[in-house]
Amino acid sequence: MEKFISFDEIKKSLEKKETDCRSIVQHYLKNIETKAHLNAFVEVYEQSALEQADLIDQKLAKGNAGKLAGMVVGIKDLLCYTGHEANASSKILKGFESQFTTTAIQRLLDEDAIVIGRLNCDEFGMGSSNENSAHGKVLNAADESRVPGGSSGGSAVAVQANLCTTSLGTDTGGSVRQPAAFTGVIGMKPTYSRVSRWGLIAYASSFDCIGIFSHTVKDNALVMEIMAGHDEFDSTSSRKSVLPYSQLLHFDKKAKVAYLKETLESPALQPEIKANTLAILERLKSEGHSVDEVNFPLLDFILPTYYILTTAEASSNLSRFDGVKYGYRTPNAHNLESMYKLTRSEGFGEEVKRRIMLGTFVLSASYHDAYFTKAQKVRRLIKDFTENLLKDFDYIIMPTTPSTAFKFGEHSGNPVAMYLEDLFTVQASVSGVPAISLPNGKDEQGMPIGLQVICNSFKEAELYAFSNYLTELTS
Ligand code: GLN
Repeated sequence: MEKFISFDEIKKSLEKKETDCRSIVQHYLKNIETKAHLNAFVEVYEQSALEQADLIDQKLAKGNAGKLAGMVVGIKDLLCYTGHEANASSKILKGFESQFTTTAIQRLLDEDAIVIGRLNCDEFGMGSSNENSAHGKVLNAADESRVPGGSSGGSAVAVQANLCTTSLGTDTGGSVRQPAAFTGVIGMKPTYSRVSRWGLIAYASSFDCIGIFSHTVKDNALVMEIMAGHDEFDSTSSRKSVLPYSQLLHFDKKAKVAYLKETLESPALQPEIKANTLAILERLKSEGHSVDEVNFPLLDFILPTYYILTTAEASSNLSRFDGVKYGYRTPNAHNLESMYKLTRSEGFGEEVKRRIMLGTFVLSASYHDAYFTKAQKVRRLIKDFTENLLKDFDYIIMPTTPSTAFKFGEHSGNPVAMYLEDLFTVQASVSGVPAISLPNGKDEQGMPIGLQVICNSFKEAELYAFSNYLTELTS
């Protein structure tokens, strides 16, 4: 059986009747079995995926199949799907079965995508290495002694290792872009509110976005145009109309590009990543685009702002997991209070507990103004700076991550070193603007490097078109 990389190839093969959906699903199931040791999948929906494939094959024969007929999708274990378990990779949700389906997934199903299984991640999306998962770590297929990035590590590896055509992840502070960079695939976080959050188990509600992993810009754009748009179940979802991104990929403008001096001069930046980023900027200049250096004096405030606000929101969002209504309940309680305390102490992992405590602290009566309110104000400054910059420039370019994929255990005992991994991804999250990570060569160890491109809010069409151009430039 041939190896499919993109949905375009699948579609052509289906059109020529060289294959059918059942064979495509079988092909991926075989890959999943061979690569089971990567631990990307928490659960494989073998039976239902094959049944779905047969139904879609019938529709194809009748000529009434949807736009995604033949696309096989994996979903992060943070997204609800009726009748299936969703654990947020946490012991506290062990055995929890979804009562409804995430709107984004439903829209893909309505266009005849096939959901093949649930993908491993950091617990509640908290982490940058996928080492914080109740389902165990995920291995990077480029070097199995290294992390795949996080928190959507399983979703990234599933695409990297061809275990599905595209996958859904969630990105609160970089969880789609960072693992995409570490695994050499494309990872897109849309504008905040572009895609409904209904069905996404909340980490930090004012940051959370559902994003997409793919091998090609076109597949990513196609999935986005189907997922995006207003949803009556999420009142924060935007009512702005959605463009057919996948049909607007032609790029023939001269772009105005900015790069932030402080990002490229950061002492944390690995030399090969700096060199490859500079090489792209040079290439753009030689193609006649304008490329300007800009100062970004707020870089040092970005991580503290992100970690204060997200832990505050997480401490509130995660208060619902108390052992009363659903999920894990301790067998060791002797009264109501100890039931709450023990359930949460035993059910949550170390990193999640650290963040709940930090978030509770920054929201506490005596420290609220000093931390939470202050961080909200700095968020506004960062957002205003970013949006104003994007009025003068079409795109901001920077590395996705300061380093390439690191070894397992390298940052385990040092949460601050782990948080530093998010240095370049959180600006777009704090500002709510869309950002994409594209493969940009490899380092001396052969590990993939990511290039991040940021655009102003709701300019997904422009971002995809420029990304498409950049991938042509780098290939
Ligand atoms: N690594 C970041 C964090 O731990 C980002 C996580 C995410 O985007 N879900 O918060």
